[in-house]
Amino acid sequence: MSSNARALLAELDRATRPVVQAVADLRAVREQWGDLLAAIERPPAAQWPPRECAGFLDQLAAADRAEGDLEPSAARVGRLPLTLREHPAPLNLDALDAALEVERDLFDLADQIAEQVQRPIRPARDHTGRYRVDQDDATNPARWHYAAPNAPGSRAYGLHWAAVWIEGRVCGEDLDGDLFATMPPRLLEHAVAVAARARRTVERALERDGRTTHLDTPCPWCGGQLVGRTRPGGEPVVTCSTGEGCGAPAALDRGRRVWRGAELVGLWAAMDAARNREE
Ligand SMILES: [Zn+2]
Repeated sequence: MSSNARALLAELDRATRPVVQAVADLRAVREQWGDLLAAIERPPAAQWPPRECAGFLDQLAAADRAEGDLEPSAARVGRLPLTLREHPAPLNLDALDAALEVERDLFDLADQIAEQVQRPIRPARDHTGRYRVDQDDATNPARWHYAAPNAPGSRAYGLHWAAVWIEGRVCGEDLDGDLFATMPPRLLEHAVAVAARARRTVERALERDGRTTHLDTPCPWCGGQLVGRTRPGGEPVVTCSTGEGCGAPAALDRGRRVWRGAELVGLWAAMDAARNREE
């Protein structure tokens, strides 16, 4: 590759990286939103690592579907924004606060984006020649509708739709018509920051924000302290604190022996063998 092509690729990468990151963050928020709503109705978990709740969520989703088949209105209530819903007795107030914060931030962001890049509703003339609101334009489903004192606007469709709509603007979708304009750089920067914060808030409330724990068993090769970490959306990683002096058959990462993914099996086996030797 010529140096020109390399420079161009680097430039492209710099330009698109914030967009790619914002899209990943918005999707992570959407994908974990159901878990957060479910967490509001459960007492907070006290143990580390966070208990596995996939089975519980599967049951919840199945119950939702069954309900939706019988009674479409019940399924719609599930999409209602939290701000419009009753929470008579939330069991996990941290989860409720996190969800309310994320919902408010993304709704506000959608308002701000709409103000700057969405064309206002255009006027049309009726048969008497008087100007009135163009109804087709006003009810265009691609639009973000602001909340009014007596109507929630697009907020009625819940956080999921807000996140999808924001993603469309961040990615520059639907720019061929005249409804949306390109996001100005400052607004894009703001959207990237809000999306990242929303994801952090959701993952912290769900205890998926990257915890660190000191393992009780020492490194089988050097006797050093082993540290386990879970990362948001990533695999668990174990690091030996000794550094390069540790003779473990594991890759070095920033001067430390590191086990991740399938390599953890080897580490567990060695820890087991060391424990058995002691006994
Ligand atoms: Zn070690």
